[in-house]
Amino acid sequence: MSHANPSLVVAVDGTSGSGKSSTSRGVAERLGLRYLDTGAMFRAITWWLLREGVDVRDSDAVAAAVDAGRPGIESGTDPLGPTITVDGTDVSVDIRGEDVTAAVSPVSAVPQVRALLLDLQREVIGGGGIVVEGRDIGSVVWPDAQVKVYLSADPDARAARRSAELGGTDVASTQQSLLERDRIDSGRATAPLTMADGAVHVDSTHLTLAEVIETIVGLAASARP
Ligand code: C5P
Repeated sequence: MSHANPSLVVAVDGTSGSGKSSTSRGVAERLGLRYLDTGAMFRAITWWLLREGVDVRDSDAVAAAVDAGRPGIESGTDPLGPTITVDGTDVSVDIRGEDVTAAVSPVSAVPQVRALLLDLQREVIGGGGIVVEGRDIGSVVWPDAQVKVYLSADPDARAARRSAELGGTDVASTQQSLLERDRIDSGRATAPLTMADGAVHVDSTHLTLAEVIETIVGLAASARP
């Protein structure tokens, strides 16, 4: 099924591990839309900084490195096979590693990082026809999105799902890592994780993936043009 409105933008924000990626890809597939994972872009910058040997806990060093290096990040937007490269290198696997996951939230709090990616994100969104997932899509990146969703789930449910995705990592430490990212993402000064004006809160704790997708497809069907 493709959506009648070619300029549709569906913004899916929410906490870490709430199911944003599977949900957003599923919605994009159902509606014949493109898909953008903005978290992958922040992870890609973090991967690049680690490779460059930058101290990722030093925000001045991160800002200076990003301003000087301007890493070229490209996102492929096919929901069936999204891609991400940094200066032409495929980083789709490496950005899911523990080192990147541990460093990505402090890096994402640096305004220069956000400014670089904001321009890129808006460029990709362009004329619309896309589902975009992140933390600040409905609030900052695309406040005019016709559909805005804030996806959440209980920490226990999120940790259990993420641990299963990662092949059975320790649930307690997975939960600690998710909550630590939420804490930093919600507390930062620039574009914190928040429920955007006009967003619909979907709690996926007791819903299947198919049910969450269906809910958002329903919101899209009744969205303003
Ligand atoms: O979505 P994912 O968990 O892969 O995102 C990784 C990190 O990227 C988040 O914890 C957050 O620090 C950052 N992020 C962000 N703004 C977005 C998307 C992700 O700050 N729009």
